[in-house]
Amino acid sequence: MTEFAPSSAVRADTLLATLDGIPTKLRGAMELCGWETVGDVLAHLPRRYEDRRSFSRFPADPTDEPVTIHAAVVDVTTRRFGARQQMFEATLAPAESAGMPGQQIVARWFNLPFMSKIIAVGQQMVVYGKVKVSGKRLVIDHPETEITATADPLADTPQSKSIHLRRIVPVYRLSNGLQQRPLREFVHRLVTSMDHTDPSAFPQIVPSTVTNDHESGLPARSQLLANIHFPPDLEAIETAGRGLALDELFLHQLHVVDRKRNHDQLQGARRAGRGELLADFAAALPFPFTNAQRKVIREIRADMKSGHAMNRLLQGDVGSGKTVVAMAAAMLAIEAGWQVAVMAPTQILAEQHYLNFQKLAAKLDLSLALRTGAGVEQTHAGDPQIVIGTHALLFDNDELLNREKLGLVVIDEQHKFGVEQRAKLQQGAGGGSVPDVLVMTATPIPRTLQMTVYGDLEVSVIDELPAGRGAITTGIRVAPKIPDVVKFLKGQLDAGRQAYLVFPLVEESEKLTAQSAVAEFEKWAKRLSNFEVGLLTGRTPNDEKEAVMKRFRDGHIDVLVSTTVIEVGVDVPNASVMIIHNANRFGLAQLHQLRGRIGRGEHQSFCVLALDKKDADSATKLAILEETRDGFRIAEEDLRQRGPGDALGTAQSGLPDLSPAARAFIGDTRLLVHARELAERVLTRDPELADPAHAHLRTHLTRDADPLGSRFANVG
Ligand code: ADP
Ligand code: MG
Repeated sequence: MTEFAPSSAVRADTLLATLDGIPTKLRGAMELCGWETVGDVLAHLPRRYEDRRSFSRFPADPTDEPVTIHAAVVDVTTRRFGARQQMFEATLAPAESAGMPGQQIVARWFNLPFMSKIIAVGQQMVVYGKVKVSGKRLVIDHPETEITATADPLADTPQSKSIHLRRIVPVYRLSNGLQQRPLREFVHRLVTSMDHTDPSAFPQIVPSTVTNDHESGLPARSQLLANIHFPPDLEAIETAGRGLALDELFLHQLHVVDRKRNHDQLQGARRAGRGELLADFAAALPFPFTNAQRKVIREIRADMKSGHAMNRLLQGDVGSGKTVVAMAAAMLAIEAGWQVAVMAPTQILAEQHYLNFQKLAAKLDLSLALRTGAGVEQTHAGDPQIVIGTHALLFDNDELLNREKLGLVVIDEQHKFGVEQRAKLQQGAGGGSVPDVLVMTATPIPRTLQMTVYGDLEVSVIDELPAGRGAITTGIRVAPKIPDVVKFLKGQLDAGRQAYLVFPLVEESEKLTAQSAVAEFEKWAKRLSNFEVGLLTGRTPNDEKEAVMKRFRDGHIDVLVSTTVIEVGVDVPNASVMIIHNANRFGLAQLHQLRGRIGRGEHQSFCVLALDKKDADSATKLAILEETRDGFRIAEEDLRQRGPGDALGTAQSGLPDLSPAARAFIGDTRLLVHARELAERVLTRDPELADPAHAHLRTHLTRDADPLGSRFANVG
């Protein structure tokens, strides 16, 4: 146990190197973490808390949730199985029972021989884990443990007891050799020696220039930090978390608002033609635009006509018809003499766009080019009017693009692109004016998140599906019988329909995925021997991929066995059946995307979400997909089930700088709106951040320094 030397008050910028009494091992670990200041350490927020003011009753039954118990070790044994396997067991009794007979629980560690060196009879420890039944005993396998009293009670100091027991205790994520108790003791030392009197010691993030009386009454940042680490009660965790989250969201919104303001000042150009080409295009379409499509085309046209550079997000559920809207925008730009670039996230999609543009614009004699990893295709010689390609286009200085004439960039399925890539695209533009940008996404983002992720974009929504779409019946089936599935499939195929059989990632390895799809492909090809079965995985060579897609599109292939490569954008209206295996391995939003591949024609469609017997529990999680096809409702449910980080995925989250603490509040609309308002207030009042009270914000925006004094990267 370490006694710290008494020390003077610490500030956020106090260097750890200037503090005495830090145990050598802890110092080394903190160095590895890259922590240099007190602020860095305090930015490492607790992963969870244990309420050790009173412990869970010693469980007499198995539990669904982990429990925290205070136990005394009454026996230890090591059992061996064969030459190499072993199990270390510690029998635990309630710490307070002082040896009285009663309920016992066994903590077990499999093949971790060093546990026998750490745990000994006579110790007391806090144990955290799920209780289950094994034979006649209650066991906790591989619990988290923390020894609170050694077998020799004289070795324990009262001071350490007061930090680790009889309070709400922070539990930290450990990396780089950090250890729970020394870290907790050090943080406790910092928290108790914080300078709360000097406001500059832990500077406020939201400047007092923009807070009103009510807001300025909020706790100081030093108090928030103290409470998030050593909360006096459970409510304090929530309150302090909210305060810290507001600081962070405010800084994030400051970026977003700043980006938007900068963009608004960019020199664009009036880039919409008179609309004759658009009228010709509309006349050549085999269907009229929906009202929703008309509405968003008007919004886009207004942007393009103005001198500002367009920066617009087009949101529309799967199948709502975003592609023709993009084409309409392209017609306006081309008529005015500009070049158009269309970016798609996958080669399949780029090729499909190329074919669609060709087909739908056939009567207009436009010159198109397709640029993918596989090479270049062109309909005419010379500068193409429309260049379609995978996002490789973003980075390569493509010879097909004429930077002087590039007037419109369409990014399809924006959620596969990162915010950074989008910014890069706009920076990369030459010729004095930046191109208009239209990003399209089918991932309905809950409105609460829109502001954060796409806060610098104007938003248009297509909120209506084209008429005449067949319904999709979705059914969750646990361990469906193969003959039934085959019979159902054959019925649909005999009626002339086509089907997708989707298989998930088996492991985080593309190789395994491909293999399992290949194995399934062989089985299904046999089961459906009267039909043509095709295979598409991420590992299918590019030219073959395109050939398979073409044969599926043309109806030569009846059944496509695939991985998620078909997830985005693929449009084959005659395909009306989708069977998704191990559906529990996908998120709700992803399942919604996958399902969006069917229900595109006039036929009744069917989506089967198949679950393994052992995953039967997942059925309730997926139930919303049986209920609705409304992408927004599904996205909100996804957000509720998984939290924003996972629900959005890393590439699209656009929240790389947010700590988990702030992410926990991101579904909180009021807090977000508030952060946004504060950021707007600051930049409206002081666009250059010249006020000395805003100096910390100026450094933040230029990324010279981080006023939180934090490196959240290792909190992950
Ligand atoms: P998404 O919004 O998912 O990208 P697509 O642009 O691929 O959707 O359109 C889906 C299908 O709907 C395509 O086959 C397209 O030709 C068709 N479509 C688009 N607009 C209309 C419309 N107004 N009426 C009928 N069908 C339409
Ligand atoms: Mg699409």
